[in-house]
Amino acid sequence: MANKMAACIFCKIVKGEIPCFKLFESDKALAFLDINPLSRGHALVIPKIHGEKLTDIPDDHLSELLPIAKKLAIASGAKDFNILQNNGRIAHQEVDHVHVHMIPKPNEEEGMGIRWPQQ
Ligand code: IMP
Repeated sequence: MANKMAACIFCKIVKGEIPCFKLFESDKALAFLDINPLSRGHALVIPKIHGEKLTDIPDDHLSELLPIAKKLAIASGAKDFNILQNNGRIAHQEVDHVHVHMIPKPNEEEGMGIRWPQQ
């Protein structure tokens, strides 16, 4: 486990060893912009403790993630959005540290309306 944590990209982001565009932080969770966004404002919400899959993380750490994703969805200004959480390679998980995706969808009438400028 110690080796996996040392090599984990998202653990390095939590420790400040790799930069991120931080959107929200609490004692147990961190949210930042996805480096390869599927849409403008695509954000990731992670527990600060390391765990590869949802089943590896205690409930009191997991329970923060969805409310934070909801806050980010509201803050993005997007009317429509996806919340995704992948577990395992067959389920398209690439980074082995639990994360929830918040992916804003373009608004057909008004364009994206996303307030974060850097993407
Ligand atoms: P997964 O397929 O659910 O595991 O998604 C992993 C996500 O992490 C992908 O959308 C990547 O673009 C994103 N990602 C990988 N490395 C970084 C990083 O260093 N910063 C921010 N996002 C990252």
